[in-house]
Order: sequence, then C-alpha cells, then structure tokens
Amino acid sequence: MATISQAPHEAAGAAPWKTHEVFNQAPPLEGVDVFASNTPLVEAVQREGAGWVCERASELGRFVGGEPQQQWGRLANENEPVLRLFDRYGHRIDEVEFHPAWHQLMKMGVENELHSLPWTSEQPFPHTARAALYMTAMQAEAGFACPITMTFAVVPALRAQPELAAEWEPLVTASTYDPRLVPASEKGCAIAGMAMTEKQGGSDVRANTTVATPLNGGGAGAEHEIVGHKWFCSAPMSDFFLVLAQTDDGLSCFLMPRILPDGSRNAFHIQRLKDKLGNRSNASSEVEFHGAWARMLGEPGRGVPTIIEMVGHTRLDCVIGTAAGMRVGVVNATHHAAHRSAFGKRLIDQPLMRNVLADLCVEAEATTALAMRLARAYDEAQEDADAHEDSSDAQLFKRLATAVGKFWTCKRAPNHAFESLECLGGAGYVEESGMPRLYREAPLASIWEGSGNVMSLDVLRALTRSPRSLEVFLAEVEQASGADARLDASVAALKEQFGDPATLEQRARRVVEGMALCLQGSLLVRHAPSAVADAFCASRLAGDGGLEYGTLPAGVDFEGIIARSRPQS
Ligand SMILES: Cc1cc2nc3c(=O)[nH]c(=O)nc-3n(C[C@H](O)[C@H](O)[C@H](O)COP(=O)(O)OP(=O)(O)OC[C@H]3O[C@@H](n4cnc5c(N)ncnc54)[C@H](O)[C@@H]3O)c2cc1C
Repeated sequence: MATISQAPHEAAGAAPWKTHEVFNQAPPLEGVDVFASNTPLVEAVQREGAGWVCERASELGRFVGGEPQQQWGRLANENEPVLRLFDRYGHRIDEVEFHPAWHQLMKMGVENELHSLPWTSEQPFPHTARAALYMTAMQAEAGFACPITMTFAVVPALRAQPELAAEWEPLVTASTYDPRLVPASEKGCAIAGMAMTEKQGGSDVRANTTVATPLNGGGAGAEHEIVGHKWFCSAPMSDFFLVLAQTDDGLSCFLMPRILPDGSRNAFHIQRLKDKLGNRSNASSEVEFHGAWARMLGEPGRGVPTIIEMVGHTRLDCVIGTAAGMRVGVVNATHHAAHRSAFGKRLIDQPLMRNVLADLCVEAEATTALAMRLARAYDEAQEDADAHEDSSDAQLFKRLATAVGKFWTCKRAPNHAFESLECLGGAGYVEESGMPRLYREAPLASIWEGSGNVMSLDVLRALTRSPRSLEVFLAEVEQASGADARLDASVAALKEQFGDPATLEQRARRVVEGMALCLQGSLLVRHAPSAVADAFCASRLAGDGGLEYGTLPAGVDFEGIIARSRPQS
C-alpha cells in the first residue's frame, strides 16, 4: 500500500500555509485623539479666540478616532445610497436608502452641533469653535459634511423671511437627527439642502428656467407652485430646500419642503442619482418639480442676494473641509513613513522623503491657519452685524478672504491628496488604505459653490463693489510687515498686480493666488514656528521651490516641521 510521506514543514512543526513573516508594515493608526494630535489646529483655535472648545473638541477627537474613522466612513462609501422611486405596491415614494453608517455619521454631526453652534452658542467665537469641531469630525469621512454644511449655512438665508425663520430655524438648529420623511414639526428637527444648478447653467444661475407661479397674490413669504428641474441637488432626503425659480419679478428664492403641511409628499421627484467621481457616501440627484409647493424667501426678484448668504457660508466650509482633508493626508503619510523602512532606513529618515512630508505638512498648516482665521472673521462680522454695522472691516475681510481662500485652498487639495497617497507607495493606491477615497473627494470643493474661475471673478467683484476691501485685506497681511523680507517683497509685488485694470480679468487667477499666498505667509510668519514659516516663505513666496511637493530648499528644518504635524502613536 502506498503511503504519503510527511511534508518537511510538518516535520518541522510549522503550519503548511506559513510562507513568510509579515513585517515592515505600519501598525493601524487607532485610538488617536484626532483633535489633540493636530497641533496646528489646537494652536489656531486658541489663537483665534475659541480655546474654550478644546476640551469638547478633544472628546470628539477621541470618539472620531475610534469607530467613525475605522469603520463608518468606509462602510458609508462601500454601501452607496440607493434610489427607491416606488414602493412595492407601485406608489411613487422618491426615497434614497442609506447604509446605517451614513446615519451614524449624520447623528454624530448633528449631536456635536456642527450644523448649529454659531446660531445657538452663547460662547465667544462660535464659528471658530465650530470650525475646529467640523475639521475634527471630517477626519472620519467627508461625504456627510455636505448636508451638515447646508443645514448650517441655510440659517442666515432663512432670516430674510422672519416668519419662515421662526418656523424653521428651531428645527434646523435642533441637535437631534431623525432621517424619517415625515413633517419636520413632528420630528422637531430638520436637514436642509439647496437646489440652484440647472442643466443649462450652474455658475450662471440667472439662466435658470424653472418657473414659480403665485398661488394667492405672490410676494415675499407667499405660496407658489414651481415647475422645472434641477441638475444637481445633493442630499435629496433633506426636509427642505432653498430653490431658485423665475417669477414675473425675476429670479427669486423659495423654501420648498419635501413633506407638505398636511403630511402628504410634495411634487419633488428624483429622476436619478449622480454616478460621481467621489463623495459616494452622499447622494446627489437630478430632480424635477411637477407643480411643487413652496414659499418665497426674501423679496421677489432678489433670489441671488437671498441665497448668497447660504452660498457664502458653504464656501467657508469648503475651506475648512479642505484643511480637514489635507490633515488626513498628512496623518496617513507621516504615520506610514514613520513605520516603513526602505534601503536601510525608515522612510521618515530618508532625506528626500523628509522633504516631501515636510512640504505636505507646511501646506496643510497654511490651509488650517487660513481656515481658522477665516472662521474668526465670520464671528467678528456677525458681531458687527448684530451692532447694526454695515461694511465693517471684518465684514469686508470676510467677504474677500472667503473667495480668495476657497479658490486657493481647494485648488491645492487634489495634488496634496495625490502626493500623500504616493507616500504610502502601492498600498496608497489600494482602497482599504482610505487614500483613494481622499483623492477622489479632493476636487469637489473647488467645483461646488463656485468653480475656480468663478471664485477668481468673485474676488474681482468684491473689490469692485467695495474698493476699501483691498485695503482691509492688505492691512491684515501687513500685520507681519518687517518680519520676513520675502513676505514684504511678495506684498509689494501683489500691490503692483492691481495696476492694470484692463487685463485684470485675464490675470485673475494669478492675482488671487498672490493674495492667498500673502495671507497664508502672513499668518504663518506671525503665528507658526519659524521652521514652518521659513519653509513657506522660501518655497511659496521667494520661488525657492518647484512645481511639485517635495521641493523645499535644503536647509529647511524638515525634522522639526514633520514632528510638529505627525500624529503621535
Ligand atoms: C458632487 C456635486 C454636488 C453638487 N451639489 C449641488 C447642490 O446640492 N445644489 C446645487 O445647486 N448645485 C450642486 N452642484 C453643482 C455645482 O454647484 C455646479 O456644478 C457648479 O456651480 C458649476 O456649475 P456648472 O456645472 O453648471 O458649470 P458651468 O457653470 O458650466 O462652468 C463650467 C466651467 O466654466 C467656468 N466658468 C463659468 N463662468 C465663467 C466665466 N465667466 N469666465 C471664466 N470661466 C467661467 C467655471 O469655473 C467652470 O470651470 C453640485 C456639483 C457637484 C459636482
């Protein structure tokens, strides 16, 4: 009889599948307080006046570093929202079904008041405090930030119509999350969306063809019936939307609920969900209004000035969200490099990798500093508005710096995500690293709510409307005058850029880039450690750097810059 001889590895006592040891891989980055370990953010929130939120942000940071970061973000993206147009009996329902992880993220956002803090808190600098919380929560995932932002941003627009604000503001600022499609008054809370973009025009919303017809008289606050479509309408399960539509008086803004006051469904019909590059946990839809009921918000024909209040606040969040995304890139890149060795050294100790990592850290810190300074401008502008001041310095700075900041920081995001991804080598290209998700998300903030050119032109518009805003902006930048010759020279060159108004539109991107770099340079020179400010000024202002990350000049304190931004694990 034949016998099967014993395999050599069995004889040696080893498992048959054991071909190798796994080593030289980074350990999972778990249990990190994603707020407290973000030193540039902690310093910025204290500097900009909202230090009171640190303990609370740290509690959120510890929470986010657990399940939200490890599980929820991934699950919400792997299990994409599904459109259910009909129920099993054939009734039209127009609902979108989400994975439970999406609802967990939304609940986290609402319970932590990311959508409401500036409208409800009695503490100083609540916008600044909220920015720190928002940046912390977004370390888990970016998609849910879209409806959270729209719910936050709708409040100042709602206030254009006091009776609608009285009805809806308590609902959108409630800190409970209830995704059911039932009357918001029954739930005691609401999520808001916005629908402006149509097929024939998104930037140019005045080309909207959707029509609103008054049901009984018309005018501000009056009921209307709306017929038309929207080509992009994100978070279509929201409880209500601000919608632009044409009236006899011109483009006007409307508040359109999904559920009518009698409990029935509004004629708000979802056509399909967008198959998007990224942001896949969030649903973005195409919708049609077949005689949908809505009430006019603000004055007839003043749709753009009314909704612009909402748009401005969403642009602020584009900047804060971009800083959050860059932080995710820095954390992953530095963590991997600290634990992975190649050619006899840890990657973080390889001179060229140090240059790449330090450059990524500098960019993320410059973006964080700008975002937090901008958030404080919203606090100061609000204080002035409460004191019935119009066109105050803070209000002018906020208006201009929002456009400047959104253009520049959002433009810097995709390459930052790509370079962070590449620091992980091939593993960074693999979904389970989370880096492809970061990379796919990165271009969105630049497109949404004013694409790059539109933001550059918006800067020129702000300058034309109020020439004094340039003075106010430069006064902020020049607070660092004399501290760094490279910054001083850049500010002088920037001023010259405004010398030839005839070609200003063609040069708008360059001018806005110059403004953003001077503002970031000024903030870092005043507030960041000299290593960070020095690297920024050399590479971004004095031209001693290349077109790619990792081109800081030799002599920069690479180690110090990385150590400051690296999560400790
Ligand atoms: C994921 C996602 C979600 C979205 N969610 C919503 C939503 O919830 N609600 C909503 O209303 N919209 C939403 N949008 C739409 C978004 O706001 C628009 O796509 C954006 O405003 C650009 O409009 P558009 O697509 O019509 O492009 P266009 O206006 O056609 O612009 C195309 C390009 O031309 C440039 N351009 C435009 N005008 C000028 C000019 N005068 N000079 C030079 N260049 C110019 C723009 O910068 C852009 O690069 C969403 C978009 C995305 C991608």
